[in-house]
Amino acid sequence: MGKIAAFGGTFNPIHNGHIELALGFAQELSLGHVLLIPTAVPPHKLSPDLASGADRLEMCRLAAKGHEILQVSDMEIRRGGASYTVDTLTELESQYPGDTLYFLTGADMFLTLEHWVRFEDIAKKAVLCAVPRGLQQKEELCQYARLLRERYGARCHIASFPLPPVSSTQVREQIRAGKSVRGLVPDEVALYMESHGLYR
Ligand code: ATP
Repeated sequence: MGKIAAFGGTFNPIHNGHIELALGFAQELSLGHVLLIPTAVPPHKLSPDLASGADRLEMCRLAAKGHEILQVSDMEIRRGGASYTVDTLTELESQYPGDTLYFLTGADMFLTLEHWVRFEDIAKKAVLCAVPRGLQQKEELCQYARLLRERYGARCHIASFPLPPVSSTQVREQIRAGKSVRGLVPDEVALYMESHGLYR
């Protein structure tokens, strides 16, 4: 029986915090592989600040290169419309029958999980994993994990590794200000953004 993780995000663009989150959980939980799943964004919402699904997918592929454990899935972008995690996990259950699914999140997302569409089903389908923003936040996440366990029988895992405080917003702002994003995103992602004129 394998262990498969789904890590969803806008990934606009993917950055080193995302990669370290995926690799950190892969190591801590001995995962077989982690699927990076960029969310679909309705075409009418596209703007210079929001790259197309094709661009965000390609940047995920470039970022995953060289990390055998990371794979990229276009399932949400292919599905289009609003991306619901419960649908993604249902699709993964049929792709990986018998495997255990893990759903990876940052702290901000984790703390809102109870309000996600059909959360009771999400909780049945996957182990819910979160990374605290700093050591001081670990207790807050553990408390929320206890609440989800009591109310929904959710299985949760709170990470014990730290992450760099980078965000996609910071990457986009630095590009707009003409500053280097070296060290914030993988080099190949930086080159892609530059050659495609993204976020200027
Ligand atoms: P934005 O700045 O545009 O809001 P973001 O950097 O938060 O974007 P998303 O694609 O929205 O990136 O995030 C996907 C997931 O990654 C979310 O669960 C988020 O909490 C988590 N995440 C993003 N950056 C970090 C980080 N530096 N440390 C821990 N988790 C992170």
